[in-house]
Amino acid sequence: MAIHERSLVEPERILRKERLVIDGVDVSGDWNLIILPRVINNYDLDFAKEIINSPDGKTINQCYQCSYCTASCPVHNYWDERYNPRHFIYLARLGLIDELQKRADVMWRCVSCHKCTHRCPKGVLVEEVLKAILRTMAKKGLIDEYPSKKFDKFFTESVLEYGRIEDGELLFGWIEKQGYKVFKDPILKKPIPFIGETPEWLKQLTMKPIKSMNISFLVLNAKHMLFHPRTKNWNRFKQVLRKVMQEEGALH
Ligand code: SF4
Ligand code: SF4
Repeated sequence: MAIHERSLVEPERILRKERLVIDGVDVSGDWNLIILPRVINNYDLDFAKEIINSPDGKTINQCYQCSYCTASCPVHNYWDERYNPRHFIYLARLGLIDELQKRADVMWRCVSCHKCTHRCPKGVLVEEVLKAILRTMAKKGLIDEYPSKKFDKFFTESVLEYGRIEDGELLFGWIEKQGYKVFKDPILKKPIPFIGETPEWLKQLTMKPIKSMNISFLVLNAKHMLFHPRTKNWNRFKQVLRKVMQEEGALH
């Protein structure tokens, strides 16, 4: 039987009077809470079949909705209660794609801790099933691709460009991609760290280690951020690497 956590019910379907007296008996409080029923016409049962047929989605039908997975999930408990593994499995099995789409912004938040899988009494490989749901939806164009993939692409391009991880460019280039204004030097047009808009969380995150850094290490890092040293003969190697990655389908 499905469990309907209160947080999953749309607020407009919950009726509750401030004060309710019936036959002289005050039934105010939880006793007067009514959840209006809803009618669902739009579902796709073939969606669950696709999940079951995918290598990591095979255990989806073993779920009996006990909610142990959700009760153990740190993302649900400490970040956002809309992230609810049990509920995602429930929606996928009923083929309620539009309901899954409404939660697309939180569905990628799994931190792969596998607590859910360890605690599932029915042997559902919960994390794998969730990934299968997401992959199937992304493949059908129903949700955006995995957000970290965008960073992966950006990271790969940066390494291909310099032959090394260029911390400053990587970090501030990515911040620029997120819509922040980043100041660039007028000649090479490379981002100059901490000039322009820097998100508050990043300032705090970087200031702590910087304060305890050895001064010569700090100067070396600042120099590398500004002058971007390159790996020797990287250009030739880059061309070969790019070609191989394209042939292997690892680069588009
Ligand atoms: S713990 Fe397992 S059986 Fe229980 S709701 Fe989660 S996936 Fe389903
Ligand atoms: S693996 Fe993902 S879904 Fe499972 S408990 Fe951890 S964060 Fe939650």
